[in-house]
Amino acid sequence: MLRRFCGYISKVFYFDEQVFRVEDDREKPDIKTSTIWVSGLLMCVLRMGSLNAMETELCMPRRMEKLIGKRKTSIDSIGRVYSVMDLDSIRSVLVGISTRLKRNKVLRTDWPFRFAAVDGHELFTSRSRCCAGCLTRNITINGEKVTEYYHRVVACHLTGFKIPIPLDIEPVLPGEYEVSAAKRLLERVFRNYPRFFDVVVGDALYMEAPFINYCQSHGKHVITVLKEDRLILMQDAKGIFKMTEPEVFTEENETIRVWDAEGFTTAGTDKPLRVVYAEESEKKRRRVKGRWVEEINEHKWCWASTIPQSELTVRRLWKAAHNRWEIENNLFNVLVNHWHMNHCYKHDPNAIVAFLLTLFIAFILVQSFYHLNIKKPVRDRLAIIAITRQLYGDLGQNTFIAPWLLKSSAPP
Ligand SMILES: [Zn+2]
Repeated sequence: MLRRFCGYISKVFYFDEQVFRVEDDREKPDIKTSTIWVSGLLMCVLRMGSLNAMETELCMPRRMEKLIGKRKTSIDSIGRVYSVMDLDSIRSVLVGISTRLKRNKVLRTDWPFRFAAVDGHELFTSRSRCCAGCLTRNITINGEKVTEYYHRVVACHLTGFKIPIPLDIEPVLPGEYEVSAAKRLLERVFRNYPRFFDVVVGDALYMEAPFINYCQSHGKHVITVLKEDRLILMQDAKGIFKMTEPEVFTEENETIRVWDAEGFTTAGTDKPLRVVYAEESEKKRRRVKGRWVEEINEHKWCWASTIPQSELTVRRLWKAAHNRWEIENNLFNVLVNHWHMNHCYKHDPNAIVAFLLTLFIAFILVQSFYHLNIKKPVRDRLAIIAITRQLYGDLGQNTFIAPWLLKSSAPP
C-alpha cells in the first residue's frame, strides 16, 4: 500500500518534483531540505503525532531509508529546519496539488458559484512556554490570576466537495483581530487560487462592512451569519419578512421555511445586501430505554449575502451557508481528533505554520489516494484511518524506493 501511495502521489501530483520546491534559510545545509521536509510530511501522513514517535522510526534500520534516503535526519534537525523553512515554498506545493485536482475535474460542480469558508481555530495553550507569536490572556485558577499563552490561526477551505481541500492558513498575530488575519490570508489566497472559488463564507464575526467591501473589491461575493447584534439590518429584514410568505422545501429529515429579501443598505456596505432567514425543523429518532422516540429539533438561522437573488436560488444559498460547517466538521475536527493538528511539534512561530501547511498537504494526499485511487469495495471495508495504519505497517517492507529519491538531478 505504501509503495502504491508513493507511486500515486508522484504520478498524479508530480510529487517526485514537488518535494524539491521546499526551501529554507540555511546557508550551508548539511542535510537536504527535501529530506527534512519529507520526514515531517511522512510523520503527518502516517499520523505519528509527535517528533518523538518519528525518532523511533528514524533510529530503526530499514524503516525510513526507502522514503528519505540513507542520510537520515534527527528530530532536532526537523524542528530546527522547520523553524527557518520558507512558508511560501511549502504553500507552492499545496497550490500545486489543489491545481492538479482542479485540472483532473475533481472540483467540478454544476452550481453557478464555488464557495470557500474562512474560520479561526485555536491550536494549543501553555502557561509556561511562550514565543514571539504567542497570544496571551489572563485567566483565574484557584483565585490566582495567571497568564495563558496560546496560538490561533485562520484557515481557508473549499466547501461542497467530497475531498476536503484546505487552501491556506495564517496565524492571528499578538494584539490582532481575527478578521485582520483573515484579510491577510485571503489576499494571498485570492492571488494563489485565482479561479478556485467565487464566494467567501464566514460566521457572524465576518459580518462587517470593511470585510465584505474588501472581498467585493477582489471580485468575490460573501455569505456571513447574521446575528441580533446587527440590530438595524435585522430589524429592517424582519419588517419585510413579516409581510411576505416563506418558501418551503425539505432536505432529508428537515423541513425548511425561508424568507428572502434583498436591497438592504443599512450595514454600510458598498453594495446592498440580501438577507435570508430560515426556520428549520428536523425530525430525529433516538433510542430511549429500548424504545425509539421521535423528536423534532428546531433551529433558526439568518444570513447576509452579496449574491443577488437573480444569481443564486434561496435553496442553494441556504445549502451553501450550511456547508460552512465543513471547515469545522471535515477539517478542524477531523484533523484535531485523528491527525494531531493541535500538537505543538516545535514552539516557534514559523515552525507552527510550516507543520500545519505540511499537515494540510499530507491530509489532501491521503484523502485523494483514498477517494480517487482505492476501489470502492476496499473503501467500504476500510476507513481512511485504517488505510494510514496500513501505510504505517508497510514501513517494514523494503521492496521499493520512493520515486523522489530516484531523481538524482534534484537540487540539494
Ligand atoms: Zn508561542
